[in-house]
Amino acid sequence: MTAFADLNALPAAQLANLNELGYLAMTPVQAAALPAILAGKDVRVQAKTGSGKTAAFGLGVLQHIDASQFITQSLVLCPTRELADQVAKELRRLARAMPNIKILTLCGGQPFGVQRDSLQHAPHIIVATPGRLLDHLEKGTVKLDALQTLVLDEADRMLDMGFAEAIDDVIRHAPASRQTLLFSATWPAGIAAISKRVQRDPQSIEIDTVD
Ligand code: ADP
Ligand code: MG
Repeated sequence: MTAFADLNALPAAQLANLNELGYLAMTPVQAAALPAILAGKDVRVQAKTGSGKTAAFGLGVLQHIDASQFITQSLVLCPTRELADQVAKELRRLARAMPNIKILTLCGGQPFGVQRDSLQHAPHIIVATPGRLLDHLEKGTVKLDALQTLVLDEADRMLDMGFAEAIDDVIRHAPASRQTLLFSATWPAGIAAISKRVQRDPQSIEIDTVD
């Protein structure tokens, strides 16, 4: 199965958008992960950089958003501001088929007050680095009570940067009923431990791994 249409889950407008983006077929990681992700299951994916992991979770995240509910429904945690910006850019491309979706990035190094102002109307999707997101959760400027999907992107790099505890603290603010998706290029022992703490019966997918 390689055509996005074969998933029988994406609306015609999204299929047309993917075509316009030049995404003519699913990458192997998308073909392996999207059925479970779109079905709402927890998934942990190990696949090398450049394999199309962003769209694998992005299409699932977007499909589960109710645009009429102005409340944060999805959170993507990334290790750095550069990666958060890249993820947000890709999500916005994928969201062209869904015009009313608000996506906000929250990273350190940007003024807190400006972020607080843009949070007066809750975004549907937040893309953030763990430390700054935690600041917002502690000050009550972000609420995750209605979170449906949590994505840990580049989990190995987040571990390397010492974010394990911050991730745990963020997750304490999220409902237990959420879907949790974990993506990593490598699979050190610490990743297995995080998966065990934060995921429920995850499906494991290993594609194009680096050895
Ligand atoms: P990863 O997160 O695995 O490193 P990315 O999500 O950044 O990979 O994707 C790598 C590149 O592949 C990006 O330029 C993206 O636009 C492109 N891409 C993703 N999915 C597809 C697809 N199905 N067809 C063609 N290009 C794709
Ligand atoms: Mg990536």
